[in-house]
Amino acid sequence: MATEQNLVDILSSVVDDSIVLRSNQVAALDPGWDADNNGAQVAVRPRNTAEVSEVLKACNQHEVSVVTHGGRTGLAGAATTVPGQVIMLTDNLEGGIELDPLERVAVVSAAVTQQAVQEAAAEHGLALGLDTASRGSATVGGMISTNAGGMAAFRFGMMRQRLLGIEAVLADGSIISDLTRVSKANEGYDLKQLLCGAEGTLGVVTKAVIKLEDAEPQSQTVLLAIPGAAAALNLMRAVQKTGGLLLCEMMWNGYATAVAKGAGLQKTLAFCPDAPAFLVIETSLDEDSVLEIFAPFFESGDIIDAVLAKSDSESADMWRVREDSQAGFRQLLNPMLFDISIPLGQLDSYMLGLEKRLDGMRGDIELQVLAHLGDGNVHLSMGRQEPWSDVEMDELCKAVEHGVKSMGGAISAEHGIGTAKLDTFNRNTNAASLAAMRAIKAALDPKGILNPGKVLSAQNH
Ligand SMILES: Cc1cc2nc3c(=O)[nH]c(=O)nc-3n(C[C@H](O)[C@H](O)[C@H](O)COP(=O)(O)OP(=O)(O)OC[C@H]3O[C@@H](n4cnc5c(N)ncnc54)[C@H](O)[C@@H]3O)c2cc1C
Repeated sequence: MATEQNLVDILSSVVDDSIVLRSNQVAALDPGWDADNNGAQVAVRPRNTAEVSEVLKACNQHEVSVVTHGGRTGLAGAATTVPGQVIMLTDNLEGGIELDPLERVAVVSAAVTQQAVQEAAAEHGLALGLDTASRGSATVGGMISTNAGGMAAFRFGMMRQRLLGIEAVLADGSIISDLTRVSKANEGYDLKQLLCGAEGTLGVVTKAVIKLEDAEPQSQTVLLAIPGAAAALNLMRAVQKTGGLLLCEMMWNGYATAVAKGAGLQKTLAFCPDAPAFLVIETSLDEDSVLEIFAPFFESGDIIDAVLAKSDSESADMWRVREDSQAGFRQLLNPMLFDISIPLGQLDSYMLGLEKRLDGMRGDIELQVLAHLGDGNVHLSMGRQEPWSDVEMDELCKAVEHGVKSMGGAISAEHGIGTAKLDTFNRNTNAASLAAMRAIKAALDPKGILNPGKVLSAQNH
């Protein structure tokens, strides 16, 4: 394994020593959402694509592995590092945001945060068409590399659907420059889509062209207490048919109650605290239309009770209950996090089946569940008093993934594979697909220097 000094020497031979960070500087970096992100002793903070290229060329030559970091909000352990590796920090990459309101495109440095793109777009009456609660830190480079989804994906697609062009550096330092600004471009294999969702294992994204949408009209927030997923789907469809559905997020009681308690927002759920689940809907419809659409659902039992936000601050509180997942997660002992997609029609039966499978396991498992309902993307957080043994953790993963692929769902919806989902991914992916992925990795990164052990594990690398 290369020592800290070896790595510093390799990097300082190709870029200015002032952008090479030693172990004391790396230790001072905020690790973000994974304590293991700063395991490496050395980092480099390139200022432009040419420096990224020089760093990769040198690391490839010396067979040093490189793990790229964006905002460090990833939730699948894809940015963890160990001594002997180099962290590629992208936060200082030049480029900023260049926006063309007529074309509705933005050419953006990988370093730029999601929120910065959202704000720049809003100045021109435009929107990114993509929104996650990590907006303040998640970067364009990270969002491309994880193919981020979030709350608006059911209308505008994931990052993959927003991506028109890319600039990226491959393991050997060669630069792919394809800053195409148009949707229609059939020019051979689509390399940007290969890099999208690759979690830093195929290249380092330095720049991108992103498609924008028109900004949403004035909107209205409604919080509904509901009996379960079947009711949620009826309500979502009713609003969707009017063309006025902007956002639609479902929270099961365990999640909403825990977040409300952790964030001091109990008053927001006080209208019906024991409801089995809640639906928070953002709609462009006016208050009268909302009341008219929902009226029959009180009679059918799909709505137990409902509150319309009367002010921006009431709306913000409703959204905080949905978005401050950390306030709930912090209360879980020995927490485990899962991110799956379930075909909408099977959501209720999947949840019932899962609860039964969990009941059969040792200990009292606390379950916090929320869903980006429009695309059946369910986030499950679980905790219990007793630590999980390896065997129990495996049992838990199998309980969650049970039947997901056969019903046409996905065992990783938007967070990626990273290190957290390697076993689940191996179990649920057919051999031919894994072999094709291995071949792509070997072709683009023959020495395996880019984020090794992520996505493709030692067994399937
Ligand atoms: C509170 C919270 C809410 C979230 N909500 C959502 C949500 O609704 N939807 C969703 O999809 N995700 C969500 N996430 C997860 C996370 O925000 C996304 O995965 C995000 O896209 C990660 O971006 P990042 O810049 O933080 O990447 P990082 O965490 O720094 O890195 C993630 C992966 O991308 C790679 N990478 C980063 N930058 C580059 C680059 N320039 N080139 C190549 N590889 C790179 C890293 O090596 C790593 O494999 C949430 C996270 C939090 C903490």
